[in-house]
Amino acid sequence: MFKIGVLLGDDIGLEVVPEAVKVMKAAAAKAGLEIEWVPLPIGRKGHESHGHSMPDVTVETLKTVDGWLQGPIGHNAYPRNDPTWINPPLRKKFELFANVKPVKSYANLASVHKNVDIVFLRETTEGMQSSSVVLAGSGEFRPNDDISIGMRVVTRRGASRVAKEAFEIARTRKRKKVTAVHKEPVYRLVCGMFAEECRKMAKNYPDVELEEVLVDGFAMKLVMKPQQYDVVVTTNQFGDILTDEGAGLVGGLGLAPGLVVGERQAMAQATHGSAPDIAGKNIANPYAMIMSGQMLFEWLGHRRGDARALDAARRITAAVDKVIAEEKHLTGDLGGKASTTQMGDAIAAAV
Ligand code: NAD
Repeated sequence: MFKIGVLLGDDIGLEVVPEAVKVMKAAAAKAGLEIEWVPLPIGRKGHESHGHSMPDVTVETLKTVDGWLQGPIGHNAYPRNDPTWINPPLRKKFELFANVKPVKSYANLASVHKNVDIVFLRETTEGMQSSSVVLAGSGEFRPNDDISIGMRVVTRRGASRVAKEAFEIARTRKRKKVTAVHKEPVYRLVCGMFAEECRKMAKNYPDVELEEVLVDGFAMKLVMKPQQYDVVVTTNQFGDILTDEGAGLVGGLGLAPGLVVGERQAMAQATHGSAPDIAGKNIANPYAMIMSGQMLFEWLGHRRGDARALDAARRITAAVDKVIAEEKHLTGDLGGKASTTQMGDAIAAAV
């Protein structure tokens, strides 16, 4: 029995997260997987009911779950300089250190490249992103009006754990190849440490091949021949840029799911934001959120050795593939005419 939190988020989160739960419930029922679903307040609804966009009850309850679904937060529209309106820092609070983002093309959907099947792992607790790197203050400062300084942090622990996750994922895939992306010849110490930890980790996985590619060349090769990559692991800022480039290769935001993983828990979170421009119209594409839920099942299945969770994940993938191939229940961004709920219903039925 798994305990899974459900955090709707804002705007289209209220529409796509319920579709993901619907599909996950259908798959779990078929696979004989028992789940306790725990709805928790977050975002605007959390503020309405608890006076805070990240209520204490949510943080406390999340400590007790195996994983959760997190809808997008429309934080850009939140009042500024009010501590009760924050973008919930759940990655940091729960040490979710790797953002796992698959980039997969579909034969019948418009995309720059076909036959792409890559899983990116972006380290999320270190690097250049100041908000995730420091406990207080900032990783950036400006000593005078002519100078700005930004810091980049890489630790052995941070590099090692994201590398381990990459090898674990590669081991479950056909090609069993990890590409570590860095720029060690220039950033000898920070990228050097990242590369060293990837090489050390590779020794524990003799069944998985490790290749190393410098980040600038990788950006070019990814555009020209993405089919050559299987699992790609990199540091925070390089990953921030490359994962968007990857999503752009296969159809963009509606098709970009994600899972943010820690040692003990994982959070299913699509790449897209809360899309206020289309919210409340029942037209948002639920694919990214549904496949983020699929990733949560798959991760739980592998990490906890639970065959039923793996079976549920496989069923969701097969159902999504079927609905996409049939082209009858696709949302507008994929060239179809279906609503969010019609596409979710079709996938749940195909499960
Ligand atoms: P966005 O991803 O919400 O939207 C960008 C464009 O993509 C919009 O035209 C939108 O309609 C479209 N789009 C996004 N998801 C879609 C879907 N599932 N189906 C169909 N079309 C989709 O980015 P934005 O407009 O820059 O940000 C909107 C809000 O979301 C802001 O408040 C921003 O801060 C927030 N945001 C939150 C997260 C998060 O919580 N993970 C991530 C990014 C942005």
